[in-house]
Amino acid sequence: MTAGDRVGIIGAGIAGLATAKVLGQAGYEVVVFDKAPDIGGVWSRTRRYPGLVTQNPRDQYAFSDFPMPKDFPEWPSGEQVQAYLTAYAQAFRIPLRLGTEVTAAYPSGGGWTVETDRPESFDQLVVCNGVFSQPDVPAYPGRAEFEAAGGRLCAGPDFHDTEEARGRHVLVVGYGKSACDITVPISEVAASTSVVARTLVWKMPRWVGGLVNYKMLLLTRLGEALFRSPHPRGLEKFLHGPANRLRRRMINGIGDVSVRQFGLDTLGLVPPGQMEDIVRGASGLATEGFFEGVAAGTIRVHRDRTVVRLLARDSVPSAELSDGTVLPADLVVCATGYTQDVPFLPEKVRAELFDERGNFLLYRQIRPVDVPGLYFNGYASSFFCTLNTEMAAVWIAADLAGALRLPEPAAMRRAVIDQVSFLDHTTGDAHCRGTKIIPLSLHNVDQVLGDLNVNIPARTRAAHWLIPVDPRAYREITPTVLRRLARGYGAAPGLTRRSS
Ligand SMILES: Cc1cc2nc3c(=O)[nH]c(=O)nc-3n(C[C@H](O)[C@H](O)[C@H](O)COP(=O)(O)OP(=O)(O)OC[C@H]3O[C@@H](n4cnc5c(N)ncnc54)[C@H](O)[C@@H]3O)c2cc1C
Repeated sequence: MTAGDRVGIIGAGIAGLATAKVLGQAGYEVVVFDKAPDIGGVWSRTRRYPGLVTQNPRDQYAFSDFPMPKDFPEWPSGEQVQAYLTAYAQAFRIPLRLGTEVTAAYPSGGGWTVETDRPESFDQLVVCNGVFSQPDVPAYPGRAEFEAAGGRLCAGPDFHDTEEARGRHVLVVGYGKSACDITVPISEVAASTSVVARTLVWKMPRWVGGLVNYKMLLLTRLGEALFRSPHPRGLEKFLHGPANRLRRRMINGIGDVSVRQFGLDTLGLVPPGQMEDIVRGASGLATEGFFEGVAAGTIRVHRDRTVVRLLARDSVPSAELSDGTVLPADLVVCATGYTQDVPFLPEKVRAELFDERGNFLLYRQIRPVDVPGLYFNGYASSFFCTLNTEMAAVWIAADLAGALRLPEPAAMRRAVIDQVSFLDHTTGDAHCRGTKIIPLSLHNVDQVLGDLNVNIPARTRAAHWLIPVDPRAYREITPTVLRRLARGYGAAPGLTRRSS
């Protein structure tokens, strides 16, 4: 692979844009396809629901070399993130084919053919189609009867206008970030707003105890070290060994604060387990106004229940819960998660991607071991998505140049399988088919940079144990690696041409 070769990129969300920017700077001709009419993926206007804001504070959700505007709030809205990504794409002149769905992508002639309304050839393919892109809406029995009575069932990302809920009975299914975000604006206009939560999960207050930004506690290296890692080192060993009790008190103490802060006891909404189980959920930050709405009676949570069927009772669209309760439901919004899949890849390729349980097997969350010319980005959903995707893009650039010294395929496969087993164990299987690596967000960054033999200064990393990790600290990584690649392997310390 040489500079000037063509790389096809599927998806114009954060991962696709970061990949296109880095590979473009490395000299490749990139083309980014997205089926949506605008860029941003999760943040596209076609996917934004009312009330959508980031979980990450502004600085932690920016790319290393492109800060968010200073006048953005600490937690930008979906619209602001989309505007930021649009500015990023413009600043780096990213070639986009919007409104263009990739219907198939398959190996051909030593490269890849990408089919949209026509086939197009690329030397390499990077899949950035988003692990939280395809909503998973349950196939409830009774849907036809429910809809015939005037009910509407939709996924969270398909609910765009709060006015649709005005004066209506609304059921939100789910208890993750999207569910709680959507519920608040709905509850301000609906006749009734019920939330059906199969399992309550822990939610981190934005301001812990009303005072401390959660980023000071969780978005630091110390915050990550509070969770188990497969190969603990240094302070991690200490925290999970002699200081285990202190560690548990630190993380679960935040849970105690959140119980008090939100009055969860009184509301009957204390989740099972402890705050450290947050790794099982979707890294949920509590939505402003959600618990307040429950306290005020405008939001009713049906905990430990599921929707078992939709129906029309006395011609009124309704939903039956697992405890037999039947609720009127003109509108049912499902914030029930996403499916992770790559339907456009052929069976032969897919067979190489998954384990027998359907988990993605990607080395460093980037590269299938045995499919030449295929990469993934955005498959390390974490507390630091922008940083993980940006560093993954640099790793891809180095691998395309043949400059990474990677282990033998069997060792890579073993490393991936070990990581999936670790995630099984720590998250109770809640790792979105191997793509959600929250307890290992910074571990992944470190590993990727370790492969590149490059890093930020040790003193900055040390500071990140106590202050939130700021992607800006990593802004020299891309230019440094690209300079080394341009100079050739011999002059690139740490970057060694792969022998195979
Ligand atoms: C509601 C919500 C809020 C979130 N908030 C945060 C947050 O605050 N902080 C954080 O770190 N993470 C957050 N995340 C996680 C989020 O997924 C990542 O931060 C990031 O935006 C993902 O970017 P991506 O590019 O990997 O995927 P996406 O943003 O999903 O982009 C994938 C793109 O691929 C396109 N695509 C898919 N298939 C095809 C095809 N066949 N042909 C053409 N195009 C295709 C899609 O249209 C989409 O535009 C949030 C996720 C959700 C769902």
